[in-house]
Amino acid sequence: MGGHKPIVTIDGPSGGGKSTVSRALAARLGFTYLDTGAMYRAVAYACQQQGIDPLNPAQLEPLLESIRIELRPPAPGEDDVQVLVDGCEVGRYLRTPEMGMLASTVSAQPLVRRKLTALQQQIGAAGRIVAEGRDTGTVVFPEAAWKFFLDASPEVRANRRSAQLRGKGEEVDEQLLLAQIIKRDRDDRERAIAPLKAAPDALCIDSTGRPVDEVIGLMYDRVTNCPCCGSQ
Ligand code: C5P
Repeated sequence: MGGHKPIVTIDGPSGGGKSTVSRALAARLGFTYLDTGAMYRAVAYACQQQGIDPLNPAQLEPLLESIRIELRPPAPGEDDVQVLVDGCEVGRYLRTPEMGMLASTVSAQPLVRRKLTALQQQIGAAGRIVAEGRDTGTVVFPEAAWKFFLDASPEVRANRRSAQLRGKGEEVDEQLLLAQIIKRDRDDRERAIAPLKAAPDALCIDSTGRPVDEVIGLMYDRVTNCPCCGSQ
């Protein structure tokens, strides 16, 4: 495997299918799934709860020093990882479009990125993880053996997100969701620090019109059949 670590990174914009694909790939490989977006959402949630202005470093710094974020496997019968903030499970408050927007604002702050990148690297130190996010292949795990960048058209991504939210019994304004997705992706791509982009050594996959099982199969084959590093 050379200097590469047994880590899979899957980056891309929101709604490209990353979560579904990352979870399934991790299960098939017997790797741990690392949802880095959940961590940014957790910090956004803590800011909201504690009335902290994420753009004010004097308020943000003490929060980041004290906050404890833990990820645990999904509860039985659930799909999403459990997210604990200071010991309380808050996952159900994190996966709303509004928290996604706030997470995007929070994630552009260098203090936040420094803290969460270090935490993610600590979790991934032993390898055998599938990390999903925006900068996992470029910044967090540049030494990962397998890198993917998953994209799809904004309309398809908004449509998938709507279906997910409706599946959870929520009402969705798909036009508003599309506008939010476009804004969030633009902000994520244009920010100065760790912007959303494909690593030069990532395989880019467009999932528009592609069944999810086909995308998972393609990634699985690449990880397990790679002649130089397929032994995991
Ligand atoms: O993936 P998810 O939609 O949960 O991510 C929420 C937000 O967190 C993203 O829009 C992005 O701004 C931020 N994020 C990030 N880097 C990551 C993962 C997420 O900046 N590795």
